[in-house]
Amino acid sequence: MKIEKIVMRQIQMPLKKAFETSFDSMKFKNCLIVEIHDQDGNIGYGECSTFERPYYNEEFMGGAWALLENFLIPETLAATIEHPDEITELFSKYRRNEMAKSSINCALWDLYAKEKKMPLAKVLGGTKEKVETGVSIGIQKDIPSLLSTVQGYIDEGYRRVKIKIKPGKDIDYMTAVRERFGDIMLMADANSAYSLEDIDTFKKLDELGLIMIEQPLAHDDIVDHAELQSQIKTKICLDESIVTLEDARKAIKLKSCGIINIKVARVGGLTQAKKIQKLGYDNGIGIWCGGMLDSGIARAHNIAVATLEGYTLPNDIAASDRYYAQDIISPMIKLNGTFIEVPKGNGIGFDADTYYMDKFTVRKAVYNKKY
Ligand code: MG
Repeated sequence: MKIEKIVMRQIQMPLKKAFETSFDSMKFKNCLIVEIHDQDGNIGYGECSTFERPYYNEEFMGGAWALLENFLIPETLAATIEHPDEITELFSKYRRNEMAKSSINCALWDLYAKEKKMPLAKVLGGTKEKVETGVSIGIQKDIPSLLSTVQGYIDEGYRRVKIKIKPGKDIDYMTAVRERFGDIMLMADANSAYSLEDIDTFKKLDELGLIMIEQPLAHDDIVDHAELQSQIKTKICLDESIVTLEDARKAIKLKSCGIINIKVARVGGLTQAKKIQKLGYDNGIGIWCGGMLDSGIARAHNIAVATLEGYTLPNDIAASDRYYAQDIISPMIKLNGTFIEVPKGNGIGFDADTYYMDKFTVRKAVYNKKY
């Protein structure tokens, strides 16, 4: 790959409505976009999915910018790279910070596929023509609101419904949904809100036939999760706990989970996501792809990786207009029912919308290869 320069931008995308999480309320989604240009004019795009503050993991936007500028980008420009997997090896000396590493790894995969004039999904080894998406519902103020929200999505055709839970808004809420909607693919996401002392809650949830409970215990735990998994029949899905291939190997060995939610950004990019899905697939672990409120660039990478055979469950890959009036890719990502058609164009298969990319850019730097 004949890399000529790398451009890094901070993009500020206006959200249609403020996005509430347990730790923040955002009106804009800031993200870092990395463009890797080759000598033939091809451009590979990657996205660094950190939030502005280090609440989800140790990474944050200002830190990621500095890490990319001081280490990851100079190293990429200085290297001779034939295949994107090589960058993962090269970056392995830097501890953690997988989201920053992921932006370069994903941009190289996009560039690599464009140089080969092939869709990224095919280059990765994906076989699906469309990928299924489920819906994720935040914590609602009461049960009637939850039921009417779920009804809306069922009417839209979603088969998998994920509901965020926390202590006090769990058993009654999930039971009400199960009773009203019968045999739907129902799951709960606890975002680490519980401990092993809450075993009685999990035993009650266990009677609801959920397809999984996502990340019930601490964000960095696999030991207590193994204990919990041994006491309930509902599969535990790990999200935050799985950062590396080694984490996945250990979690499988300890029987800490039956399912893994692979977020490409969280695990350092497509190279690692591919390895974790293979390990999971070979060990009978269910896999699906989660997201980070990303722009269309990261969503496009997620669509591509979800075409791999190990991705056996509906994914959290939303249409662009779920959160944004305007995306930075063209065309915007649309759902066909609850499926997304895998694009057939080269690389990620979507063009960067340079007008909106420039319009939303609040900080930009260009780094040239030195000869
Ligand atoms: Mg999660």
